[in-house]
Amino acid sequence: MAAKKLNEQLENALNKQINAELWSAYLYQSMAVHFAAEGYLGFANWFNVQAREEQDHAKIFMNYIISRGGRVELMPIDKVDTSWKSPLDALEDTLEHEQKVTAMIHNLYATASEIKDFATVSALKWFIDEQVEEEESVQEIIDKLKLINNNGAGLYMLDTEYGARTYAQASPLTGKLIN
Ligand code: MG
Repeated sequence: MAAKKLNEQLENALNKQINAELWSAYLYQSMAVHFAAEGYLGFANWFNVQAREEQDHAKIFMNYIISRGGRVELMPIDKVDTSWKSPLDALEDTLEHEQKVTAMIHNLYATASEIKDFATVSALKWFIDEQVEEEESVQEIIDKLKLINNNGAGLYMLDTEYGARTYAQASPLTGKLIN
């Protein structure tokens, strides 16, 4: 027997989360393009990988809604403000955005807990852990950029380091419907 059907309020909130994850992908893709145009090819690579991971996050939520017999609704994606003045500026925007996403996931968790939808509570655990990692890795880049303080050699080294990042598919997608 399939798990109990999704509560409507929770289904709507999960669809909003899909939109937030897709907007994250849009934000990071915009940053990748911005950095590539500025000659920071390593940062561009890092944000390209980041954008792909965000698409995975959206797909994990899509798969989850489908597996609970719900309806996935893809809503319009807002335009991104691309007026970043420096790598630090872009990374600070990234951290602020991820903190908002974390709060949204915590709200989803609270709603699912309140209505005793334990399957959703369980599915959200991966995202709660993922957000800790996201915020930590972005904070680490911000700390390094502050340490470098616009030094050209330092920025060059950091850009080279981020050029080595490779994409790995987010784990809950393995063997799922939308891949
Ligand atoms: Mg995400």
